[in-house]
Amino acid sequence: MRIDWPNAKVYVAGHNGLVGSAIVRALEAAGVGEIVGWRSAELDLRDREATMDAISQARPDVVIDAAAKVGGIMANSTYPVEFLKDNILIQTNIMDAAHAIDVDRLLFLGSSCIYPRHATQPIRESSLMTGPLEPTNQAYAMAKISGIYYIEAHREQYGRHWISAMPTNLYGPKDNFDLETSHVLPAFIRRFHEAKVSGAPTVTVWGTGAPRREFLHVDDLAQACLMLLDCYDSPETINVGWGEDLPIRELAETVADVVGFKGTIEWDTSKPDGMPRKLLDTSRINALGWKPGITLRDGLASTYEWYVANVA
Ligand code: GDP
Repeated sequence: MRIDWPNAKVYVAGHNGLVGSAIVRALEAAGVGEIVGWRSAELDLRDREATMDAISQARPDVVIDAAAKVGGIMANSTYPVEFLKDNILIQTNIMDAAHAIDVDRLLFLGSSCIYPRHATQPIRESSLMTGPLEPTNQAYAMAKISGIYYIEAHREQYGRHWISAMPTNLYGPKDNFDLETSHVLPAFIRRFHEAKVSGAPTVTVWGTGAPRREFLHVDDLAQACLMLLDCYDSPETINVGWGEDLPIRELAETVADVVGFKGTIEWDTSKPDGMPRKLLDTSRINALGWKPGITLRDGLASTYEWYVANVA
């Protein structure tokens, strides 16, 4: 199954985003033949005809679908219509276009929120569809679950070697730092940085701080994606995670420390906590020889540096 990377033309959907840009960095480092991608202003992946046209003209050998409408707990629960509809449109258009030109290797990326709210921790791939979802990210999860089954359907009906992988919470350069729509880690970087700069004595964050989350740097994920395209060929989705989680309260203290915020942290418990815990069981991907390398502390420091240079 190994891909002949130096001669491969790879389409990275979402190449300019947090995940896609990390995959592009990894592909470039691996010496891939050619990378294609369009920014959302050039190609709206929700537009079926435009997507079919662009992909059929580019004729990639490999497709990596890292394009999605993503957002944190607030965005996801406030705009369920867009989170369900846009994601279904994006992934279906990309996969249909790839099918139309006979792409044999395609990797679809989802998220750990696809698993049931009360799944046994750490969460194994086999927990999929065994119970109700976490309501605050149900729309996104439903779309991603459909994507996993669409991959399986193409394998079964057309014999395609398409695969899907489910990363845990990701972070790194090019993340979304908008306070209303971002995930917790970039929100913390921004909140603590702005408080440090303005000299504010307190920072207020959401929920109780009790939920636990696992964080993986996107550059680790990108290595996993290349490895999976080289050697994973199964209808079952595969988890990609760091292997340990921590309470949001501890994440807040760590980010405050990295940023250099010396004030106090207050918790607005009127805001939702979301899933109590979502730690992925990564024994399957670890058995294939992949292990992440970027510690949370190092990843936070480099992401903060990127934020200061590019956003703040
Ligand atoms: P989730 O993993 O889908 O729940 O998404 P998030 O990354 O948005 O949130 C993770 C946890 O961090 C939840 O318990 C949030 O309530 C909590 N949290 C605390 N402060 C913030 C914040 O400023 N922004 C976000 N997005 N989450 C926060």
